[in-house]
Amino acid sequence: MAAERIDGKAFAEKLRERVGAQAAEFEAVAGRKAGLAVVLVGEDPASQVYVRSKHKATLAAHMESFEHRLPADTSQADLLALVEKLNTDNAVDGILVQLPLPDHVDEQAVIAAISPDKDVDGFHVTNAGRLAVGQSGFVPCTPLGCMMLLTDRLGDLSGMEAVVIGRSNIVGKPMAQLLLDANATVTIAHSRTRDLPGVVRRADIVVAAVGRAEIVKGDWLKPNATVIDVGINRLAPVEGEAKGRLVGDVDFAGAEGVAAAITPVPGGVGPMTIAVLLRNTLVAAYRNAGMDPPENSL
Ligand code: NAD
Repeated sequence: MAAERIDGKAFAEKLRERVGAQAAEFEAVAGRKAGLAVVLVGEDPASQVYVRSKHKATLAAHMESFEHRLPADTSQADLLALVEKLNTDNAVDGILVQLPLPDHVDEQAVIAAISPDKDVDGFHVTNAGRLAVGQSGFVPCTPLGCMMLLTDRLGDLSGMEAVVIGRSNIVGKPMAQLLLDANATVTIAHSRTRDLPGVVRRADIVVAAVGRAEIVKGDWLKPNATVIDVGINRLAPVEGEAKGRLVGDVDFAGAEGVAAAITPVPGGVGPMTIAVLLRNTLVAAYRNAGMDPPENSL
């Protein structure tokens, strides 16, 4: 039987609607809208697309969007000064500096300058530390979105074998920590892992965040595994195509016959990231206004 497709697009739409309704409630009690500031340095085409869609999604979710577009030669000092200004601006609840930054800017220094209470991307070491020790903070949007899809489908993950492929600070590591918090037995595989197929084969849950097109094959999977494919890879165009196809890190066709459920690419994890960013911004707004965020904002 073909695996069920986990519809991240539909899930993300519902989450955005819920966050939008809660953002309207926030405005009613706080007397102002929740606000997200997005900073873009330079002209990277992919970053421009992301920033534009974040702006549109923020407005659609009944929040204020503050866009700061800076030229590629902006100095680190000027960028840090802007972040400092946003840190103290009471209309701004969340700050997102779009990565990658130009080479002359130290990304870690910029992330470190963002107030942890406005760090809705969850990249600040304070938030990474909070996640590591189980305190509430902000969790990076993509792994939190994966976790929402997993718990929606599987409920209690307690005791399940989970394998996360990839150990980046943005996806792999926080994903593993979320799974551990949910009492799964977690293995993190990476570029130096020996016998990746053997490691993947024991997983009830596979999260692939590698960035290599279709590296995970169907016959690596345990029958009835749940597969979350974070990878976004563009194949070289074949004849007749203007652009190559987008594929994940999992060979979808091969996996479909083995897994119980799998996220497609596109339409799986991708749409969750912005939805969770809005959710994190709403949570930041409640906290910054000295109120508890609504229970069901997760
Ligand atoms: P990264 O390059 O920082 O990390 C990749 C990880 O994969 C590394 O930890 C590395 O050890 C591991 N790896 C590399 N080659 C491997 C191999 N042959 N076998 C096993 N492990 C290997 O990437 P990232 O930022 O974590 O992103 C991973 C993928 O997820 C990319 O395709 C990226 O585009 C995608 N992504 C998607 C979203 C989304 O919104 N859907 C968000 C972030 C990243």
